[in-house]
Amino acid sequence: MKVLVVGGGGREHALCWAIARSPKLAKLWCAPGNAGIATVAECLPVGAEDVSGLVAAARERAVDLVVVGPEAPLTLGLADALAAAGIKVFGPSQAAAALEGSKTFTKQVADAAGVPTAAWARFEDAAAARAYVRDRGAPIVVKADGLAAGKGVVVAASVAEAEAAIADIMESRIHGAAGASVVIEECLIGEEISFFALCDGERAVALGAAQDHKRVGDGDTGPNTGGMGAYSPPPAFTPALEAEAMERIVRPSLAEMARRGTPFRGVLFAGLMLTAAGPKLIEFNVRFGDPECQALMVRLRSDLLAALLAAAEGRLGEVALEWDARPSLCVVMAAEGYPGAYRRGTTIRGLDRAAAVPGVLVFHAGTVPGPEGAVLANGGRVLGVTAVGETVRAARDAAYQAADAIDWPEGFCRRDIAYRAL
Ligand code: ATP
Repeated sequence: MKVLVVGGGGREHALCWAIARSPKLAKLWCAPGNAGIATVAECLPVGAEDVSGLVAAARERAVDLVVVGPEAPLTLGLADALAAAGIKVFGPSQAAAALEGSKTFTKQVADAAGVPTAAWARFEDAAAARAYVRDRGAPIVVKADGLAAGKGVVVAASVAEAEAAIADIMESRIHGAAGASVVIEECLIGEEISFFALCDGERAVALGAAQDHKRVGDGDTGPNTGGMGAYSPPPAFTPALEAEAMERIVRPSLAEMARRGTPFRGVLFAGLMLTAAGPKLIEFNVRFGDPECQALMVRLRSDLLAALLAAAEGRLGEVALEWDARPSLCVVMAAEGYPGAYRRGTTIRGLDRAAAVPGVLVFHAGTVPGPEGAVLANGGRVLGVTAVGETVRAARDAAYQAADAIDWPEGFCRRDIAYRAL
């Protein structure tokens, strides 16, 4: 098969690495890819959000399956455009991708499907929002309804804090138009995990779970990032809880999407809170998490390409996935200054030494090839040093041994990935 992967981050490197192992694969391209992806796929100079360019690239090469990594092209309708051109795609339609783009839409789907989630209400009027908060009491969660780059959520410990968040979002408009309305939610208490399910519009197969670290600093301090590390599986998420999440959250949501005429095909990423009353839905995303994907892919024993194709063709009933029971862990190395301003173009050395540590794979997130085989940093999150081990501790030791073998003075990583599991 001829396959095109869309994206150029660590998630896409992990997907390309797993797809490249498939006996079904004849040729792999990635658009735009990165220096690490270039070792397993031919990279094409087409941006991940260039919908017409991607359709043309797939058509010219008679690609059999397009696998879409990031959410942006999905929300732009890439899957619809490919389908219209008669090209098979793994990833949801624009209408189904609304599960990631709109909090209100997700809450409506969850309520209609009877999915356990936080009680919620939506307000376009700040006074009414304040009255609701006073009535409900704290802790309580205030969210800008629109997209706010992950910054529009305040978990308020007091009513005063919640009222201040309402003023900031709705009156001072600190997130702009995203604050025209707010969603106010019951505060869920428990451990938060990322759960993934492969979906073909009707059926779903569990892809496993991971826990990530969003804050830039050790001990979960400092500003939010795209994710500084992840590990899989989270010990708190038992097989019984996974079965419950499939039955009570994933399958009813899929059925509701199909009922609405917008069946969901692709990876459904459920952000779950493991509460005393069982798993509850916090949010859906419509693609793999990054860096959760890296931690999952190194544990997958089955043929990823066969599974993605089956999902795209509505044949998931034939798929049973096998996993390495051992835990895995991904440590993200980022450019100094990230998530604020950072430099591009600094030289990374020692990647071979890192990859030689047993059990380790170094996935590239933001890199470009430099002169004479050098690798240059080209983003905020730059590398995902990923390891499998007999225990979480062993995986962590291997990942940090590899990270320490990388010679990149302008980079840094958190030193405490998976501390909750240890
Ligand atoms: P991101 O893009 O970073 O995932 P987002 O803007 O889509 O964020 P949510 O995922 O809804 O927003 O919330 C962000 C974080 O806030 C969650 O990961 C969770 O830690 C916390 N949170 C959200 N809703 C609740 C809730 N009802 N109870 C407790 N914590 C919550």
